Amino acid sequence: MARKSSAPQPDCPAKNFSTMSIHAGEDRLKPGCSITDPIFCTATFTFADTQAALDYVEQKQPREEYARYGNPGEKVVQRKLAALEGGEAAAVFSSGMAAIAALLQAKLGSGDEIVLFDECYHRTRELCCKVMGKFGVATRLVPACDYEAMEAAITPATRLLMSESPTNPHLSVVDPERFAALGRKHGVETVIDATLATPHNARPLEFGVDYVVHSCTKYLGGHNDLLSGVVVSSAEKLEPIRQLRGVIGTIGDPHSIHLLLRGLKTFELRMERHNANGLAVARFLERHPRVEKVYYPGLPSHPHHEVARRTMRGYGCVVTFQVKDADWRRTADVVDAVRIPRIGPSLGGAESLIEQPMVMSYHDFDREQRQAVGIADNMIRISCGLENQEDLIADLEQALGN
Ligand code: PLP
Repeated sequence: MARKSSAPQPDCPAKNFSTMSIHAGEDRLKPGCSITDPIFCTATFTFADTQAALDYVEQKQPREEYARYGNPGEKVVQRKLAALEGGEAAAVFSSGMAAIAALLQAKLGSGDEIVLFDECYHRTRELCCKVMGKFGVATRLVPACDYEAMEAAITPATRLLMSESPTNPHLSVVDPERFAALGRKHGVETVIDATLATPHNARPLEFGVDYVVHSCTKYLGGHNDLLSGVVVSSAEKLEPIRQLRGVIGTIGDPHSIHLLLRGLKTFELRMERHNANGLAVARFLERHPRVEKVYYPGLPSHPHHEVARRTMRGYGCVVTFQVKDADWRRTADVVDAVRIPRIGPSLGGAESLIEQPMVMSYHDFDREQRQAVGIADNMIRISCGLENQEDLIADLEQALGN
């Protein structure tokens, strides 16, 4: 039975980011006097007697009952993520996609509509357009950051305005104030997938956005070793999403939650390095004669640089670029020539990763479909890890020189 989570929230002794990353949401004294939170590897939680069970079901005694509804570890990480994001409450899921799916399923029904900025992770587009479509929810795709087009697509059936910010892989930045205002004007709730920003670099809730989602698989976990997702919002708006999670069972597993909690201890340090490496690599690529175009919101040449400067504290580690006069094969030669980044999807981990979207994420798309979503054959996406900046740049220099 999914009960309201009414556990008292321990206060963080200070509100600075790194202090919150380490201490927010954690009890000062933990089981066994351990400094770290234990991993609760259990399917169920037992009651001393019938009175204890009654106290729980009558919501007199907050505690755990069955692991599909919650476990003590996830309560800690949820409180920490809510504090970092500046939200009241958070619900952690088994993956970023599970978090987005639960939000859509909890909030929408047959006949409802979503308006979605078209630049986004391809599975999000698939979830909205194909999967939700099967259940009678229509999605209207409009060009990323075209607020007039988004407004024009709103109908009396629209229930959600959705976007990523920055978008993956184009790194377009949504103005959260304008986006939230659009939702308020039309009485429609707003969702930002801020995976590529993280609460370190941007906090859309502070601008009035209703829901923030993250794939914690990326920067929040930070070590390329877990799958996780989160929705952060007000306690009231979040509750139906958390309740649905208890029904469909997409809760995070205790080991992933432990890794996420551990990854968050070094969150600010990692983000500072990711931001510095991303900016240095973007600047290097922009100057390189073999590079046709760089997508990175920290560059003054980026069309959303001003919005990013106003609303973000850093621009992240993902840099997308196009290789000059190269077909897909010559572009693949650059990917194959790098020696530090590994070839693979994902981003925001300690190890740098590189991929050619056409070869990997968009392999199933034909040329016309790729063009429609702005995926060029000569496009490469790099996620700059925590390695030494000069080593990363020297490696890209030799790969582009090949
Ligand atoms: N949102 C964005 C922006 C992503 O890039 C991804 C994955 O790449 C997801 C959501 C999905 O997250 P997960 O892989 O944790 O399900």
